[in-house]
Amino acid sequence: MSTTTQSSVARTYQIRTHGCQMNVHDSERLAGLLEGAGYVRAGDGEADGAADVVVFNTCAVRENADNKLYGSLGHLLPTKQARPGMQIAVGGCLAQKDTSAIVERAPWVDVVFGTHNIGSLPVLLERARIEQEAQVEIAEALQHFPSTLPTRRESPYAAWVSISVGCNNTCTFCIVPALRGREVDRRPGDILREIETLVAQGVQEVTLLGQNVNAYGTGFTDFEGTERFGDRQAFAKLLRACGRIEGLERVRFTSPHPKDFTDDVIEAMAETPNVMPQLHMPLQSGSDRVLREMRRSYRAERYLGIIDRVRQAMPEAAITTDIIVGFPGETEEDFAATLEVAERARFASAFTFQYSTRPGTPAATMGDQVPKEVVQERYERLLEVVNRLAWDGNREWEGREVEVMFASGEGRKDSATHRMSGRARDNRLVHVAVPSDEALRPRPGDIARTVITHAAPHHLNADGGITDLRRTRGGDAWQARQAQPEKTGAPAVGLGMPSVGVPAPLPPAEGCAVG
Ligand code: SF4
Repeated sequence: MSTTTQSSVARTYQIRTHGCQMNVHDSERLAGLLEGAGYVRAGDGEADGAADVVVFNTCAVRENADNKLYGSLGHLLPTKQARPGMQIAVGGCLAQKDTSAIVERAPWVDVVFGTHNIGSLPVLLERARIEQEAQVEIAEALQHFPSTLPTRRESPYAAWVSISVGCNNTCTFCIVPALRGREVDRRPGDILREIETLVAQGVQEVTLLGQNVNAYGTGFTDFEGTERFGDRQAFAKLLRACGRIEGLERVRFTSPHPKDFTDDVIEAMAETPNVMPQLHMPLQSGSDRVLREMRRSYRAERYLGIIDRVRQAMPEAAITTDIIVGFPGETEEDFAATLEVAERARFASAFTFQYSTRPGTPAATMGDQVPKEVVQERYERLLEVVNRLAWDGNREWEGREVEVMFASGEGRKDSATHRMSGRARDNRLVHVAVPSDEALRPRPGDIARTVITHAAPHHLNADGGITDLRRTRGGDAWQARQAQPEKTGAPAVGLGMPSVGVPAPLPPAEGCAVG
């Protein structure tokens, strides 16, 4: 029974999202499912917890993630007691990990659902309401490929598109294989159909999402378990197929794994004009010994070799990465190797993380954990290096022209500085001075050219104005959404990690595309 049949006033929902883009994209689907079941999003101005249904989409990667979740659930208890009919649901990786322990520790939780069965949320909420009993449903294996579920996308002009879920690697610091399961690839035809549908709706940028996009299609059964793609070139072919989609301006992907990175992907990137000159490839460590301990089967020279070939094919490609400092047993020599690889790779930016133990991962029980103060000191040295490299890279753009696709929510000071922000083709953040006359200003989604006047470590400024403004279908889609009556507010997305805007084309994540 739909909730809308019970009352003329639709029930409201809030989603609190933690973790990586996978979770952010899953939350878009949870929102789509709830709206399909008749719920409406609680308004922007509503306080946390001021909704009929509050959903926590959790992450198991960060240290103390469970304590933080139980703290938040505890805070919500008085709200729930004062609001008859309110329901609380917990999904995501922590739910997959802790299962029924959640309702034991927080018996006021109504629904616990796993990473494989987000499609069940509306039914579970309804069942919990009717039976007045908590519902726990954790599937061991994927039930539907998530992209087949309804989605309420946050941006009208840019979208994430899942190409695979799960991971067949066994990196010793990563909880993903345990919680998201083995890799399941989505059929190329389904992916391309989804992208074409999105483009028809005004989307002009897609980010292909998978824990290890380079493994896409290389010998895994698909969801039905009946077909093996067995095609090592499947990802390159997918990129080229994206290049044939009329109206698709920009294609990005995250994350590739150096182990599986093949040259046909570099060729496809270089030869497909709408695939952006940008590569986010997790390094994690520059020490071969640590990489071995991490069970990441590439070595530093292979990593650097890929970067060299990418730069040969696309001299202006921006290369970004994830690095973990203080993995168990990391010596000063190992750390020096990481600094050296960073220098040689000339990263445009790096998401840097201090290693912290994650229960359930092999690394959590390794001896030789590096003392906190040593990790901190190394982390600060690494930050200095990556910030300097990022600034050096940005300075090379001073005086040069870039194409910017404008976005909403990318520049916090934009209204004070009369700028609008967006991304260059290589994903650098650019704050652009724009005309004050509304008729001459770009809308989020529109594209223009501009000359960089100033480089900062983490952004570029362009204060000389814009040329070649293109009013795009993405801008039209943004404008059309503004004109719609405001029936919902934005979901609370607390990444708890460095974020690069919505939708974030780079993974603010350690552990590939996962938090
Ligand atoms: S770090 Fe990435 S490649 Fe390694 S197990 Fe986790 S998701 Fe897979």
